[in-house]
Amino acid sequence: MLSNGLAEDELFSFLSSHKKEDIDHRYILSSMCTLPHPVAIRAHCMFMETNLGDPGLFPGTATLERLLVERLGTLFHHKNAGGYATSGGTESNIQALRLAKALRPRTCPNIVLPESVHFSFKKACELLCLEMRSVPLGADRRMPADKAAELIDENTVCLVGVAGTTEYGMVDPIADLAKIAAQHDVFLHVDAAFGGMVIPFLSRPIPFDFSLEGVTTIAVDPHKMGMSTIPAGVLLTREPDMLDALNIDTPYLTVKKEYTLAGTRPGAPVAGALAVLDYLGVSGMKAVVAGCMKNTERLIAGMKTLGIEPAATPDVNVATFACTRAPAPWKVSWTRNGHLRIVCMPHVRSDSIEAFLKDFGDMHA
Ligand code: PLP
Repeated sequence: MLSNGLAEDELFSFLSSHKKEDIDHRYILSSMCTLPHPVAIRAHCMFMETNLGDPGLFPGTATLERLLVERLGTLFHHKNAGGYATSGGTESNIQALRLAKALRPRTCPNIVLPESVHFSFKKACELLCLEMRSVPLGADRRMPADKAAELIDENTVCLVGVAGTTEYGMVDPIADLAKIAAQHDVFLHVDAAFGGMVIPFLSRPIPFDFSLEGVTTIAVDPHKMGMSTIPAGVLLTREPDMLDALNIDTPYLTVKKEYTLAGTRPGAPVAGALAVLDYLGVSGMKAVVAGCMKNTERLIAGMKTLGIEPAATPDVNVATFACTRAPAPWKVSWTRNGHLRIVCMPHVRSDSIEAFLKDFGDMHA
């Protein structure tokens, strides 16, 4: 620590020099996060000091959290869903599995999940001492429901399906998984961290939510396609009070029990997430998602023209390709199978897609 503080000008010029080292969003084609919507930034700034970890001190902010859960529950066909605001998909997935384990005590618990899950499940299984039973994907890069059913046994506490996979943008057959979960009486957690803010707004939505009987919990991240400020995730539960199973005593706070994983929790991104939903409404979100899907389709068509085949036909705005190089200064990513991966987030404009295609074509010329 410095022995004497810096002058404010000096401090901020130091901070801005480092901010300049960050990549310009114009070139970021690899991220599932995006530039926050202006109303999210404004709402975030209003609630900067709020702490949902001690909600009795911030009852207004706590109401916004309940409203966010209600808005998303309603969007997912269950107005009375329970839930709370997490730091993102990782925390939501950990908490969903923690809940499944708490409500289904088994001596050697296991979970059944697709090979395509986000790596947060590996963290969750390590933390919770759960055996991870991974189902190989079908040729369509989705988890075959019958193969998942074969791995379920009396020690299975949860089946997991992904609605919008991180690497290839696929939606697992959640309706089939929901039937299997109901038949075997196991929880079904749907990781819709990415797809949850895309699928309901598609011209042809794919069933993945509480409208399916067997779905127990859903993870959705407003800080991804919801254009909120970071960190904003939400875990939703079918039963409104389900999370109480995780309660521990918190004697010195304004509430005497808490089921969240984090203690101190920011209210600012919760206000940001709600602000975007209420500002855009369903019609505004449909327009954003339609733009992202159009860019995804254009990118796939443009790459085909350049002789590069897509690695999948995605359900959401993630495009992947069979190729090994990409031009600078674009920041793309690579899947574990070595495919080029581009996420057409709201900050990725159609002119960026055209510029990328041009640079890609020049590089391969
Ligand atoms: N689940 C899915 C499907 C994801 O794509 C991601 C991140 O990209 C996560 C979970 C983890 O989310 P976070 O990084 O917000 O913890």
